[in-house]
Amino acid sequence: MNREITYEAVIGLEVHVQLLTESKIFCGCSTRFGQPPNSQTCPVCLGMPGVLPVLNRKAVEYAIRTALAVHGTIAPRCRFARKNYFYPDLPKDYQISQYELPLSTGGFLETSDHGTVKRVRIRRIHLEEDAGKLLHAGAMDQAEYSLVDFNRCGVPLIEMVTEPDLRTPEAAAEFLKLFRATLQYLGVSQGNMEEGNLRCDANVSVRPTGASEFGVKTEVKNMNSFKNVQRALEYEIQRQITLLKSGQPIVQETHLWDAEKEVTLPMRGKEEAHDYRYFPEPDLVPLEVSPAWVEEIAGSLPELPTDRRRRFVQAYGLPEYDAAVLTASKALADYFEECIQLHRDTKLVSNWIMSELLGYLNRDGKEITESPVTPAQVATLLKLIQEGVISGKIAKTVFEEMYQTRKNPETIVQEKGLVQISDREELNRIVDQVLDQNPGPVSDFKGGKEKALTALVGAVMRATKGKANPQLINDLLREKLGGG
Ligand code: ADP
Ligand code: ZN
Ligand code: MG
Repeated sequence: MNREITYEAVIGLEVHVQLLTESKIFCGCSTRFGQPPNSQTCPVCLGMPGVLPVLNRKAVEYAIRTALAVHGTIAPRCRFARKNYFYPDLPKDYQISQYELPLSTGGFLETSDHGTVKRVRIRRIHLEEDAGKLLHAGAMDQAEYSLVDFNRCGVPLIEMVTEPDLRTPEAAAEFLKLFRATLQYLGVSQGNMEEGNLRCDANVSVRPTGASEFGVKTEVKNMNSFKNVQRALEYEIQRQITLLKSGQPIVQETHLWDAEKEVTLPMRGKEEAHDYRYFPEPDLVPLEVSPAWVEEIAGSLPELPTDRRRRFVQAYGLPEYDAAVLTASKALADYFEECIQLHRDTKLVSNWIMSELLGYLNRDGKEITESPVTPAQVATLLKLIQEGVISGKIAKTVFEEMYQTRKNPETIVQEKGLVQISDREELNRIVDQVLDQNPGPVSDFKGGKEKALTALVGAVMRATKGKANPQLINDLLREKLGGG
């Protein structure tokens, strides 16, 4: 009997998102990315003495949009707080954030986990300002000097914190992707992890499967892609399980993901010993959001990924799984809907996009917006199959060629002579030949082995280089062999 204990993970995420406003959250400086260092600064975002912050209304609006999209409750009155800490990228030595009274509390997002809808609760969403950026001359702990760029200082951020509702690294990555898609549909952020406008810290603990209490958690930081979030969590979960199995305790601490070495390493104790001495920001009045404004924003929300996913299931009859894949990005969902304007078989379109198109795009690390094949070309290809001009099998070859060359499917079919043989006379001749050459399978089939037919169909396909109409082959074979 195997009595080894199994463990399950418990994960909660803290996500920071840069909002796409034109100016910073407390001053008029531009938020434009990639400008010369320190060219987008002013006395306010440089933390000069005597200056006063003025809240950017657009940043509040974007935060409310996001909060409403995840079913959060907007506080009629919230306030800003100073989070105090010393770091060279923070000229004021405090970050204006929100603490006790965040802009939004509660809410949820429903992810699609292998075709099953799961609800992940959201604890809060608050507004804060970003810090500057350090450029180290060499590895951080050995650098001779570091340079600081304050352009990012004061760029508006929202922080979103989930409840510990996630159970696997994959589910955590899926949730993040859904949150990013939601931000993109809302138009409030680019949500690009690699560029740092979406950043995620993950809290994780493990417990014996079935236990009701949570274990001691660690926090993992420094992951700059969905893949890295998943990998870092997988590593950290394994590390914790190994410790527990050998009877050692988990220490509550922060770990940094090292993407090169694929390990998480604990931050040194001192760096971690934060006492932020939060206190209410005296330079900003409490923020009062009128119900009318909330209502106005609520009325302007676009269709969101989860709504669109549901609509794809209900209106197009797609499986939940397909709907989740196809709505993962707005561009992909748009692409799909363009295709089905031109070809009504929704499931067929979905199959071709998911297995062929996404297969090639993923292989090449490309986005749907870079697809060499257009929706019109997909629809034409499917029409060629439907009209019996080419077989489904040949269509795959044609699709590959379309992807490589951007040529239209008809052109490829003509150039390569791929038109399906649907001519009864012509196929008749070939089928007769095949039957002559394959006495074994023929007698097997006559003796009752249904499966022998597959071998004969295959032989006809080979003889026609895959161009024979499969339905017609089947009919002809069964006629001639008198079975079925
Ligand atoms: P802290 O006080 O350490 O900041 P919080 O309770 O504020 O912890 O939670 C921070 C994040 O950690 C949230 O996303 C929450 O869901 C998650 N979390 C809390 N407890 C656990 C746990 N035992 N295991 C995993 N995640 C947790
Ligand atoms: Zn400024
Ligand atoms: Mg906390």
